[in-house]
Amino acid sequence: MGIREDLIFYGKLIKSYIYPDRCVFCDRVVDHGISVCKKCRKTVPVIKGARCFGCGKPKDKCKCAGRRRFYDGVAAPFMYSGVVQTGVKLWKYGGRHKNTEFFGKAMKRVIDENYKNIDFDFICYVPQTEKEKEKRGYNQSRALAEELSRLTGIPVKGALFKVFETRRQHDLPWYLKSGNVLGVFECIDAQGVKGKNILIADDIKTSGCTLGECAKVLKLSGAEKVYCVVIAVR
Ligand SMILES: [Zn+2]
Ligand SMILES: [Zn+2]
Repeated sequence: MGIREDLIFYGKLIKSYIYPDRCVFCDRVVDHGISVCKKCRKTVPVIKGARCFGCGKPKDKCKCAGRRRFYDGVAAPFMYSGVVQTGVKLWKYGGRHKNTEFFGKAMKRVIDENYKNIDFDFICYVPQTEKEKEKRGYNQSRALAEELSRLTGIPVKGALFKVFETRRQHDLPWYLKSGNVLGVFECIDAQGVKGKNILIADDIKTSGCTLGECAKVLKLSGAEKVYCVVIAVR
């Protein structure tokens, strides 16, 4: 090794002591270059085998009978439970923004496996109002859309606009969820949406009301197909 290579090697070594790699799910320190610790690897609720595209769950856990909320399908790499719950919270609220890379890769695998025959024109994200953006610092749905764009080469387009602020879907009982987001999104560019196949990226799907409302607006503006991809479904 030359001096330059030596310096790079020791630089990386020191960096790995100061900023060690951490498990994306539980934040434990892991060996350099590893994303998931041994313990989490055993318990991650990965969605495998036949899945329901109405709710995104494995077929044997689905209770939706294939009901689609204006979108043509939703798919996710994980169930929103156990270590995935801690991992998503860590990423959203714990400042682990770099975990977007890991979640993006997992979502890309799901797209490759489940949407391989669909020629997407662009990736869209769930918009926030200016106030919400300010409060949260960044739009995690957009961060995922941009990461997926980097991985797939499909462009990102902010096709939707959020008209007013809403309460967090998470905090609401099921019977208020669909009303909370009703009429909250508008299409920015109907011409650019007409006849297009669109992929919406978001973090988690719980009731599906938010994704359904986004898909509805895109379909009303003439979108051909609207599919969703999320990190996890509940
Ligand atoms: Zn872990
Ligand atoms: Zn289902």
